[in-house]
Amino acid sequence: MAKILDGKALAKLIESDIAVRVENYSKKAGKTPLLATILVGSDPASATYVKMKANACARVSMQSRRIELGEETTTAELLNVIHSLNEDAAVNGILLQHPVPSGIDEREAFDSIASQKDVDGVTCRGFGRMSMGEAAYGSATPAGIMKLLDHYEIELEGKLAVVVGRSPILGKPMAMMLLNRNATVVICHSRTKNLPDITRQADLIVGAVGKPKFIKGDWIKEGAVVVDAGYHPGGVGDIDLEAITDKASAYTPVPGGVGPMTIATLITQTMESAEQSIS
Ligand code: NAP
Repeated sequence: MAKILDGKALAKLIESDIAVRVENYSKKAGKTPLLATILVGSDPASATYVKMKANACARVSMQSRRIELGEETTTAELLNVIHSLNEDAAVNGILLQHPVPSGIDEREAFDSIASQKDVDGVTCRGFGRMSMGEAAYGSATPAGIMKLLDHYEIELEGKLAVVVGRSPILGKPMAMMLLNRNATVVICHSRTKNLPDITRQADLIVGAVGKPKFIKGDWIKEGAVVVDAGYHPGGVGDIDLEAITDKASAYTPVPGGVGPMTIATLITQTMESAEQSIS
């Protein structure tokens, strides 16, 4: 049986560490760390994700400030909100929930977040710095995956890592993080030819496709480490995990794998930003 990379358990451990850091920070700074969350539009899944992030803040006694903007919000209006949060000394981190309605220039909005408050790791500057191995907050989902792999001492150096998906918040930063750790990285996407032939060679596979159970059991090599970043209604991911539990050496369950690690990373990076602001 494959080892379960238990993101839920690790996130709990991380939260207890953060709770202590929040207490210490609050004594020293005379205020609590604050994460501002921005939800634009009325997508129910996005509303749920924002709520889960606010709940995580509450569990560690961190403050969260929820900003909700209507579907018809313009890019200029959103930029104004972000600028005022950048200027607000009480705010340590800014989370703009992806995706924003299609009428908004999401890239411009992400890139208007001040680097020191980019705790979700969404700016081009942050991506560039992280890719170059410079200090930056990593994109929360792939950075959470790296924490999970490290916790379970999964060897990355020299391994063939196949990342299926190349989105700005997941696939691309994931690939760079693995590359920085000396994995040999292949990035696959919707134009990739013979995808199963490629994934079958992977020592480590990351599913970041956004399609339920898209990656099949027979696309995965015996003994591979399987990371499923996907999440879909019904609690299934992007990989047919039932088909690999006897075959993989380790895998992230859905739910309880990557999802909790994303949130734990977001609050960790908010904590770091708060600590930086008074050091
Ligand atoms: P996305 O922006 O839709 O990107 C999907 C990627 O998959 C794209 O790069 C796309 O290629 C690629 N793809 C689509 N069809 C493919 C195919 N037939 N063969 C190979 N590649 C294909 O999605 P995302 O935001 O990265 O999210 C991916 C998954 O992760 C989703 O299930 C999402 O729910 C989940 N997610 C989870 C968390 C978490 O906290 N757990 C956070 C973020 C996302 P092209 O670039 O060529 O279009």
